[in-house]
Amino acid sequence: MGISTGELLRRNAAFAATRAFAGLPFPTADTLQVLGCVDSRVDPGDVLGLELGESVVMRNIGGRITPATLREWALLGRLGQGRPPRSGHLVILHHTDCGITRLADYPEQLAAFFEIPADELQNKAVDDPYASVRVDTAIARHALPPSRLVSGLVYDVNTGLIEIIDPATQE
Ligand SMILES: [Zn+2]
Repeated sequence: MGISTGELLRRNAAFAATRAFAGLPFPTADTLQVLGCVDSRVDPGDVLGLELGESVVMRNIGGRITPATLREWALLGRLGQGRPPRSGHLVILHHTDCGITRLADYPEQLAAFFEIPADELQNKAVDDPYASVRVDTAIARHALPPSRLVSGLVYDVNTGLIEIIDPATQE
């Protein structure tokens, strides 16, 4: 059955004892934002060495920018209303051997995920993370305020290394 709730409780007790959670500030518009895939091998906190409180991480199939992703960010942005201009940095993290490549057999569901007609799926480059991350950084730069930096990275599940495919222009 995988990891039991009892085991989760034990691990949580060990975590709570570290007090790593204590006193962390609520995230702001400047907090690093990461969009990554749900794959259990590619947790952005782990592969990018991010500590609690350092990043706002959103994950979906493939780490893709979809209309749902943009709607969720717009809602999240409400939390920062009245604060200084939205700056900060968005990292889009795609990865090799992504399961989304196997979903090409289900074009209707995949198209619904992107909210596009199935005959436009080729524009999403789901079979190539190095291409798909460029597709999504382009969408993000168009959709987000220009003050927000956007980077496109690919994580290699075999080497554990990331590669910057599309760097933020002001880095
Ligand atoms: Zn994936």
